[in-house]
Amino acid sequence: MNIHEYQAKALFEKYGIAIPKGAPAKSAAEFDAAIAQIPDGVCVVKSQIHAGGRGKGTFTDGFQGGVKVCKGGKAEAKEIAAKMLGNTLVTKQTGPAGRKVQTIYFTEANQIKKEYYLAILLDRASSRPVIVASTEGGMEIEKVAEETPEKIFKIFIDPGYGLADFQARELVFKLGLNPAEQKNAIKLLRALYTMFWETDASMIEINPLITQPDGAVLALDAKVSLDDNALYRHPDLVALRDLNEEDPKEIEASKANLSYIALDGNIACLVNGAGLAMSTMDIIKHYGGNPANFLDVGGGASKEQVMAAFKIILTDPNVKGILVNIFGGIMDCDVIAHGVVAAAKEIGLGLPLVVRLEGNNAAAGKKTLADSGLKLVSGDSMADAAQKIVKLVA
Ligand code: GDP
Ligand code: MN
Repeated sequence: MNIHEYQAKALFEKYGIAIPKGAPAKSAAEFDAAIAQIPDGVCVVKSQIHAGGRGKGTFTDGFQGGVKVCKGGKAEAKEIAAKMLGNTLVTKQTGPAGRKVQTIYFTEANQIKKEYYLAILLDRASSRPVIVASTEGGMEIEKVAEETPEKIFKIFIDPGYGLADFQARELVFKLGLNPAEQKNAIKLLRALYTMFWETDASMIEINPLITQPDGAVLALDAKVSLDDNALYRHPDLVALRDLNEEDPKEIEASKANLSYIALDGNIACLVNGAGLAMSTMDIIKHYGGNPANFLDVGGGASKEQVMAAFKIILTDPNVKGILVNIFGGIMDCDVIAHGVVAAAKEIGLGLPLVVRLEGNNAAAGKKTLADSGLKLVSGDSMADAAQKIVKLVA
């Protein structure tokens, strides 16, 4: 789960990571009260969407920049905010459809001595948290990694010890900070690690992290991703979820306890098990098709879940055919078959449907499908089923 910059910064404040003063507003009526909370003078207006690259983004009405520094102070900030709120911002990360801005964050503008990049995430190869930092802040880190990898520094943290003092010192030396900055940066690094650990975050990214002429070190931006599997331990963080930023199909799927990810192809897949779901997508591609989604109904799906899965799949207007691929280990194939039949009858399925059932109670499942009177094609193997649906959709 991702959260907004203003929410992430409230967490920063709680953990002692220094941030500029700021306040959010969700409607034009709240602008004055929010602006009143920041000091007079130059300020920054920031569109709140779950995507990066806002600064260089463009709104669909042509207005440039989802992050604006307002030299004209609060009066200008209010005008700019009115142009952003309700408008749709397109950035490198949003895709061409963009995201509607429903919250504005006002912050004081800070004098920047230098911009840095700082992030902490889980390194899956070494199974430990890694802090990634660079002297090249404010830029795309992927570009820095490609062109000047020597400007990126990493520290791998032993989760048993936590962040060691010598590691934090080594990093601030490598970043070339002066003594006053070092002291503040080390404090910030410790706070960052504690927050990462305690919130069960999968990533916290600060780009840019800035130094100021007086030695202060501040987080100007904040992107936080939380581990969905740990959210049950954090009701306070779950409350930060913004459904406006999520695909409605994925929200429906999570309500039915299904793992669903929308993709941009036209062959919908309904599969049990994440590994089988991935290999199903692969084999569709292999035979020249394009999967419309990843959908894992789990090892022990009920008839109701299968029906919910079908309904979700069919709300995607791009879907031109469906492939059901079930390997019954724990799963009873006949339960899936009944779910498919009930859903198809209720919805009045008009699309080509290929079903491959294998394993536990497959014979009964195939009989249920055959007796249903539904127009469907059965696949004998994964390869056979994939080729059939690709052909039907073409
Ligand atoms: P992003 O484009 O989505 O990553 O949004 P950011 O929050 O990183 O803002 C984009 C850029 O605006 C930053 O890289 C900064 O260069 C600039 N910016 C943001 N806040 C301030 C500020 O307080 N003062 C100044 N001078 N520039 C800022
Ligand atoms: Mn940024």
